[in-house]
Amino acid sequence: MNASSNDSASSTKHRVAVIGGGAAGFFAAISTAELNPSAEVVLFESGKKVLRKVKVSGGGRCNLTHSCFEPAELAKRYPRGSKELRSAFHHWQPRDTIEWFEEAGVETKTESDGRMFPVTDSSQTIVDCLWGKARKLGVEVRLERGITGIEPTDEGRWLIDSRNERRESFDKICMAAGSLKSTGLDGLIEGLGHRIEPLVPSLFAFNVKDPRIAGLAGLAVQEASVRILPKGKPQSGPLLITHRGMSGPAILKLSAWEARTFAEHDYDLEVEVNWLPEWKRQQVVEKFEELRKRKGDSLVKSKVFEEIPRRLWESLLSAVGVQPENQWARLKKAGEDGLVKELTAGRFAVKGKTTNKEEFVTCGGVSLKEVDFRTMESKQRKGLHFAGECLDLDGITGGFNFQAAWTTGRIAGRAMAGVGE
Ligand SMILES: Cc1cc2nc3c(=O)[nH]c(=O)nc-3n(C[C@H](O)[C@H](O)[C@H](O)COP(=O)(O)OP(=O)(O)OC[C@H]3O[C@@H](n4cnc5c(N)ncnc54)[C@H](O)[C@@H]3O)c2cc1C
Repeated sequence: MNASSNDSASSTKHRVAVIGGGAAGFFAAISTAELNPSAEVVLFESGKKVLRKVKVSGGGRCNLTHSCFEPAELAKRYPRGSKELRSAFHHWQPRDTIEWFEEAGVETKTESDGRMFPVTDSSQTIVDCLWGKARKLGVEVRLERGITGIEPTDEGRWLIDSRNERRESFDKICMAAGSLKSTGLDGLIEGLGHRIEPLVPSLFAFNVKDPRIAGLAGLAVQEASVRILPKGKPQSGPLLITHRGMSGPAILKLSAWEARTFAEHDYDLEVEVNWLPEWKRQQVVEKFEELRKRKGDSLVKSKVFEEIPRRLWESLLSAVGVQPENQWARLKKAGEDGLVKELTAGRFAVKGKTTNKEEFVTCGGVSLKEVDFRTMESKQRKGLHFAGECLDLDGITGGFNFQAAWTTGRIAGRAMAGVGE
């Protein structure tokens, strides 16, 4: 069957199927319907509900994007997909996302770290907006209709098998089923000739059992840097000590950039923490010299660095065997060397990971080499598009993952609509 056959009214329609009712799928379906009102758009969702991740995202507030409006700068927040997204952001970037949601009645706000949320601080606002738009545009949302098979026809169309339904034919399809780790669709996509990059978790906290941080859960250092030993690239930002070890932006960033290294080492490796990344090692040494000279009578336990919370400082003193009641003038060389090392290059053993409650994603998915980012169409199969987390792209925390879903969904939707924007 093709678009020119006229054996039934529906067969003449431009039919588009979207697989997956998440952020990417909804945006692809809505975009197709917006840009081509005569298209018949069907969205297949395997679950009983759509937009489940949007609902739980950002601690229930939905961090929908980030106030970074320079495509080149924005692309740097993606450990995988940076190059491809950089060009894609010229077509749809955070500014477009914000304007689109505002036009749809969702006011947004920016927090001091650049994360953007609906002013309601409720993810339900985003869910309602996307649902409302889809309904208004006539997108047919089919729940509990998991896709079980996809087959190209000789005429350039696509046949789709879904749970409990007869086979149906479409002109275009968009795969937006989210992380391929949980869907089991990887085999099906490989069967269509696509390579799947290995699927491993990203954005996780570290399990670290160590006396230096024991009992300090809840304590945060505003700027720390952390890297994998021996030669990893440091990532910096706030670091939070938790009951299980370490979390916070610096740790999550490292987990994202080094997602594959962590997986290869089965989440068992050593990291180096610099609690004073804005200080050079020599400056710390000089600070100690100055304290010995000018404040020789003061006790070492008194707070020395603004950046280091008192309880962490005491813990580091105890780790290097320095008595807190010691005076600076009596601090031995070994104690001082130990402290400098602990402050600027403390070694910690990571033994396992904990899922970050705020946001986690899968690293890996459909290889980007085989997708044309101008249309999100497969380079192997015409009429097959991809959007969202099923692709081998992912960002650090901060709204970047949803932005990738909106961008790729929009580009796929526009291409499937078959009209220019
Ligand atoms: C707890 C949590 C909080 C998060 N918070 C944020 C945040 O605040 N900001 C941010 O940017 N990112 C956040 N993320 C990441 C973000 O949720 C994802 O990047 C985003 O949801 C990916 O969208 P998607 O549409 O590609 O996939 P999904 O949202 O996973 O949607 C895929 C959909 O496809 C359906 N599906 C699967 N298989 C089939 C099938 N065979 N047939 C039909 N349907 C199928 C699934 O049921 C699902 O509904 C968070 C993630 C988690 C887990």
